Amino acid sequence: MKTVQISEHIWKCSIWVGITVSVWVVQSEDGLTLVDTGISLMAGGIEKCFRQLNAPLQRILLTHGHSDHSGGIVRIRSKFPVPVYAQAEEIPYMEGRLPYPGRSKAEKLAEPGLVQPLDDRAAAAAGLRAVHTPGHSPGHVAYYHEQDGVLLAGDLFTEKRGRLNRPMPMFTADMKQAVESGAVVAQLNPRLVSVCHGGNVLISSPQEQYKAYALAAIK
Ligand SMILES: [Zn+2]
Repeated sequence: MKTVQISEHIWKCSIWVGITVSVWVVQSEDGLTLVDTGISLMAGGIEKCFRQLNAPLQRILLTHGHSDHSGGIVRIRSKFPVPVYAQAEEIPYMEGRLPYPGRSKAEKLAEPGLVQPLDDRAAAAAGLRAVHTPGHSPGHVAYYHEQDGVLLAGDLFTEKRGRLNRPMPMFTADMKQAVESGAVVAQLNPRLVSVCHGGNVLISSPQEQYKAYALAAIK
């Protein structure tokens, strides 16, 4: 597992398992926030990152519930029993009460009641603002770290040679909506965008790229 500091307050931990899977550790006044948990086998590497930063984990924020983002919850919480938050609309899918759009079967990805509805306070304590960006999944959110100018985009995009690229079509519920949600980069104008699946390259000047991205993505 590879850990890279991507801005003053944010570290990105990634693993290669045929694709890159990443999570982020965000440092704030009250300690650390884990954004996404990755797959279960990343838990040891993520813990190592907490130890190196030498601050307590306070909360887990999810961009969405897919298994490559929520798969580490149980192992991480066995050592750090912190609250877990996801956008309210995402929770019925995570708890296996509804199949994700386009899937035939519901899948239980978290014990019912474990994941709490995300509120502004939980994100703000980490220095983040949650922005609802549906499309890849119904309750997908991106997290904006205003002070560092970094958008933690989850699966809102992938990255290709430093440029915005569509989320993976096979796992995206509504591509048109996902591309529209990507307009968040034109509104917020982050300095950098970091995605879950896409090497360790950060996307700079995303605002300038958005128009061309949207045109190419809907073709
Ligand atoms: Zn996903």
